[in-house]
Amino acid sequence: MNYKNYTHLKCECGGIIGMYDKEHFTCEKCKKVHLIGNQGTKWDVLLTNEKNGWIFPMIRRKNKVIPERMWVEDIVNECRKANIPVFMKSSLSDIWGEELIQEYPDELNHKKVN
Ligand SMILES: [Zn+2]
Repeated sequence: MNYKNYTHLKCECGGIIGMYDKEHFTCEKCKKVHLIGNQGTKWDVLLTNEKNGWIFPMIRRKNKVIPERMWVEDIVNECRKANIPVFMKSSLSDIWGEELIQEYPDELNHKKVN
């Protein structure tokens, strides 16, 4: 398998998520435990480091630029300051990591938006 096309799952803090204790997926930096798979963050392949047995969930690299959460936060903050509604597409959910903000402009509030 060519792992060049894959990249590590990252914690919000930027740390690499891996199974370092053969039990839980944790962040290497902040030690936060992450749910991986059905209930948690999606992954595409598992990479095992044969030397130490650590397991890393990897995701396939996308060709488009992946926005970092901080950029999204900046935009949200600017919108809040300017009183502009924020609508996040579902493709942002992995980066955002919490419930998406989906607000419509007043003019659209009573229309169905697809
Ligand atoms: Zn972390």
